[in-house]
Amino acid sequence: MSIVSTAALGYPRIGENREWKKLLEAYWSGKKDQSSFQTEMRDLRIRRLSRIQQSGVNFVPSGDFTLYDSMLDHIAAFSLVPERFKDLGTPDSLAVYFAMARGIEGAPACEMTKWFDTNYHYLVPELAHSPELKLAFNPWLTAYTEAKEALGLQTRPVLIGPYTFLRLAKGVAANEFAYRVRKLIPVYSQVLQQLAEAGAEWVQIDEPSLVTDVPDAHLPLLIEVYSALKSAHPQLKLQLQTYFGSVQHPKVIFELPVDGIGLDFVRGQPDNLQAIEQYGWVKGKILGAGIVDGRSIWRVNPDQALALIEQLARVVPLEQCIIQPSCSLLHSPVTVKGESSGDAIVNGAFAFADEKLEELVSIADTCALLLSDSSPVLPPRLETNRLALAALRGHPARQRASNQALSDTIETRAPFSNRHALQRSRFQLPLLPTTTIGSLPQTADIRKARLDWRRGTIDDLAYRSLLNERTALWIKRQEEIGIDVLVHGEFERTDMVEHFAHLLDGYHFTSNGWVQSYGSRCVKPPIIFGDVMDRGAMTLEDTLYAQSLTNRPVKGMLTGPITMLAWSFYRDDISKEQIADQIARALNAEVLRLEAAGIGMIQVDEPALREIAPLKRNDWPEYLEWSVNAFRRSVAGVRNDTQIHTHMCYCDYHEIIDAVEAMDADVISLETSRSHGALIQALHHQPYANGIGLGVYDIHSPVVPDTNTMLEVIRDSLAVVPSDRLWVNPDCGLKTRGEPETLAALERMTEAARLARRELQ
Ligand code: GLN
Ligand code: ZN
Repeated sequence: MSIVSTAALGYPRIGENREWKKLLEAYWSGKKDQSSFQTEMRDLRIRRLSRIQQSGVNFVPSGDFTLYDSMLDHIAAFSLVPERFKDLGTPDSLAVYFAMARGIEGAPACEMTKWFDTNYHYLVPELAHSPELKLAFNPWLTAYTEAKEALGLQTRPVLIGPYTFLRLAKGVAANEFAYRVRKLIPVYSQVLQQLAEAGAEWVQIDEPSLVTDVPDAHLPLLIEVYSALKSAHPQLKLQLQTYFGSVQHPKVIFELPVDGIGLDFVRGQPDNLQAIEQYGWVKGKILGAGIVDGRSIWRVNPDQALALIEQLARVVPLEQCIIQPSCSLLHSPVTVKGESSGDAIVNGAFAFADEKLEELVSIADTCALLLSDSSPVLPPRLETNRLALAALRGHPARQRASNQALSDTIETRAPFSNRHALQRSRFQLPLLPTTTIGSLPQTADIRKARLDWRRGTIDDLAYRSLLNERTALWIKRQEEIGIDVLVHGEFERTDMVEHFAHLLDGYHFTSNGWVQSYGSRCVKPPIIFGDVMDRGAMTLEDTLYAQSLTNRPVKGMLTGPITMLAWSFYRDDISKEQIADQIARALNAEVLRLEAAGIGMIQVDEPALREIAPLKRNDWPEYLEWSVNAFRRSVAGVRNDTQIHTHMCYCDYHEIIDAVEAMDADVISLETSRSHGALIQALHHQPYANGIGLGVYDIHSPVVPDTNTMLEVIRDSLAVVPSDRLWVNPDCGLKTRGEPETLAALERMTEAARLARRELQ
């Protein structure tokens, strides 16, 4: 009998076969009425709980299941429903909940953004106009009671802590942060009070913001908040959970008046361990030891995990430790059962959420043996891990690249001013040239044809000719509209990362490795398991075909190395820097092929560059250096009259302005709809020296903007970018938009550019 306990901090909602997603979408589309929706959701919830319970972990979380997003659950429960949804019903109604999540006519959805450096999106609390804060209902109590009644299970409810909740909210001025946090104390207290009364013993309070930059001034506030929460209910035990990195102020955090603290010993290494060794551990306090990587898809290395536990045990008695994943398993697919396609060694090395729970239990059993002084023989579960990981390490696909070459010099090009002159005379573009970001509307027939082609019901020729036909149609349309730099339209792609992953060596594709991205949307990230290598032309045919139809330049279009890394799962035996470098070299081969074939403009998209920047600013310079190098490597060696473009979105450009400069692309196109003012200001303070296109309209909305609004954006931009370097383009790719609205929007965009040119004369 093990005396070392285990915990799950959170578990996927989507279900083994994405039942959750299907049920939600059936309800939204009206195929399922509210009462059967709720009954079936309850069934899913209970089945999910018993699955976690059956794994044998001691602490089973409740309240982490949601109908859309956990942050949104807090928003509703705390009566923070934005004004525009209030007439739809009470905060606990499905009408209000899903309207906040998805928007309705006249009331746009709450903003959504990425959860720390993961690919999961949460809904952002809007605090500006909602001073009234009270507990409208208690979803954690409902979840706790449901589990107890249905399964007789004592669960550990999970809340997002008040500090993190507010750090992620918008509309909180820095000088009122403390005041706002204090306002939350009674609401959290009430939640805890009701849980305690219902019989809860432990509550897990997630504070991932503690691993980001925490200003010194927040420390007294954290002490105040947790003292208040603890003293309001001394009998209820609080487990303060951090993840995604090491805590910023370990000494203060370790001493917070809570009963246990959870730390991430995967991404938080070596700092978390060193902090424990340096400051010691408060007697009697529980340590949640996050040693199984909740964000990777690989089996845990038992030798490393046990070695780490031994080091921890020198400071914290094992009886006081809970063995747990590094974070919620939300970020992992559900189970490897059913993964059999493709490479057996790779499949054999996988551990998804269910398997990670089994690993925890096996590790805890082994620890119990260590405690009782028996010889630490690995249980079969972990012995299998050892063998599977050894096979993966020896995989032939991992022995291809030298991995030594990071320091190879990256060829630099002539200074921008020289390139600019050469490119102007080569391309003869007007002032304020117009272009798009790459993808054009992917209509249902294209998506269906791709599916049929994958299933083998239509052949290569039929599929190709449909793609070509669509490209030809859009080349003509772009010319008619008067766009200066054309694109082939990316009709061949499902997704900008998956498409290239299929064309490069070193990737694996799961059959069922889905993870939630936002709401009911799930993604199946490709898995980088081996050395990524070029396998021959990827975009050449499509680009050359498009170019053959027009005299205007057609941009070659590739997904950059950082984005290829960020939106995949990847191997952990080499650094991210090394993986990005391999991808960059593979892409570079394609860049040079395009150039040699006569393509004069090549765009390498990096929308994810900002997104995977480290959570602490101190770590940025190192990251930006290698990520910029990867980009530069991907376009290295091109001629000075070849024009390199890049595109970024979802990012506050002003935060990475130096890095963007160091990338030294000839033209960058940026999304601006969400931060137009801030961007113009940033460019005012630090002018950008190369070509730049500031998105003149938001492609995320189906509304066709009017010409004048776009003209205004161009005028604003001309205040900070000289007219011979400003480009005119939409915010992002157009693949999710319909054809008629896209045509109309692009017409107006070129019209706006024409009007702006006239004003310049
Ligand atoms: N070239 C891509 C497209 O237009 C860029 C997508 C993105 O930035 N996310 O779809
Ligand atoms: Zn974009």
